[in-house]
Amino acid sequence: MTTKSASKKKNGYRKFWRLGVEEYNTQMFDISPDGELIVREGNFQYNIFDIVKKYGTATEIVFPTIIENRVRDLIETFNAYIKVLGYRGKFYYHYAMKVNQNKEFVLPAVAEGANLDVASANELFLVKRMIEQDKFNSKIRVICNGPKTPKYIELIEELKSKGLIVIPIIEDSVELEHMSKFKGEVGVRVNLDVKVDSHWDKKYNRYGFTEKELLDLGKIRNLSVLHYHISSQIEKIDGMVKPLKRALELFAKLKEKNPGLDTLDIGGGAGVPYEKKKHFYSAKSLIHALVKTAKNHCEKLGIRHPNLITEWGRYVAAPAQITIYKILAEKTVANKGNNKWYVIDGSFMNDLIDTWAIHQKWHVIPVNNMGAKKLEKVWLAGSSCDSDDKYTSGGGYILLPRLVDSDEQYIAFLDTGAYQDSLASHHCLLSSPAKLIAQNGEIKIARRRETSEEVGKMFGW
Ligand SMILES: *Cc1c(COP(=O)(O)O)cnc(C)c1O
Repeated sequence: MTTKSASKKKNGYRKFWRLGVEEYNTQMFDISPDGELIVREGNFQYNIFDIVKKYGTATEIVFPTIIENRVRDLIETFNAYIKVLGYRGKFYYHYAMKVNQNKEFVLPAVAEGANLDVASANELFLVKRMIEQDKFNSKIRVICNGPKTPKYIELIEELKSKGLIVIPIIEDSVELEHMSKFKGEVGVRVNLDVKVDSHWDKKYNRYGFTEKELLDLGKIRNLSVLHYHISSQIEKIDGMVKPLKRALELFAKLKEKNPGLDTLDIGGGAGVPYEKKKHFYSAKSLIHALVKTAKNHCEKLGIRHPNLITEWGRYVAAPAQITIYKILAEKTVANKGNNKWYVIDGSFMNDLIDTWAIHQKWHVIPVNNMGAKKLEKVWLAGSSCDSDDKYTSGGGYILLPRLVDSDEQYIAFLDTGAYQDSLASHHCLLSSPAKLIAQNGEIKIARRRETSEEVGKMFGW
């Protein structure tokens, strides 16, 4: 039995590490009475400390149930607002495969009704593999983004001829020419002339036609979808609403010469509260704003409500994986007050490359010793021989338990499910982390940690 003060203390630590908070996507995270990290899945629970002691580190743990829940919620929320607000278009969710192509991510999304968005011939090849197994609904819709190489076009045509709904998105006039004989519906991508708050607010976007180019094309054969993808991890709801309005205005003009145009695909961009600090918008308020804007703006423009597609990838995938490392050593940071280096048994440049590439911020928490009273201000160092292999939380510090207070210290990075895997590398020939799957109360090994032989082989040895 927990006494009142013991449970108050426990809640204090839970709050301190920002666990158990739905708006941070940590509602399934908790702390055991022994100060160890727990992840819950319904009434199942996983003690992360026990798991990493058994399977070792560096390790990624995937929670497919989180993907299922997020996809289901997303589709239900869109449909609910469509109904409540009297929107007359349909909603289709397409999971952007490039965000995480692991089978353990894609299949749970598909199981909850996700359609797909692929970015290359090789991603489409995986879809072909999937439908060849015959256990998939052939009504699944596949949007094809990315440069249409001859191999990609061939595969698009093959799958189309097998009855799959494959919609190529045409990005430029060369692709338009190459796809001119395609029998099915097509989409076009526009490079909208709007700027939004996000890391990728690029001045020179190279994807898609300009608005003027599209209007100058006049009638486009079999056109049914207008698509745009502004950016990723968009910081504010307005950054999603503004492009939507602009796109609807273009949609209305394009529809004059293309009566078959009936769908607006608003791409990806929904963000995740990685830092668990400032107030971040909820999916519910974002979806409400989008459906409401679409309805009001269509009425203003006097057009029928188009069907809506979103290709949110990060939003679904990021919170479904955590990455665990062990602290190998402590070093003093020269010239930086009281900060210490903690060296991890993995690498940012290899396993969490966005740390280095785009200065991604992560929420880092201890896996054991979570009730420690004394904490150290640290910077984290990767195990490669590269001075850029580090995480300093933007130059501030990360608070973690002191190493003198326990025999071993493990740490977890939350929200590592989006983009890191396919960008991962082998600097200094370090092995990639093992990948474990936690579902239905059981742990399965999806990918073992690479052996020296396996890593050597990739380099011709
Ligand atoms: C990357 C990408 C997405 C996914 O974006 P998120 O910000 O992860 O949701 C969707 N559509 C296209 C065309 C993309 O390139």
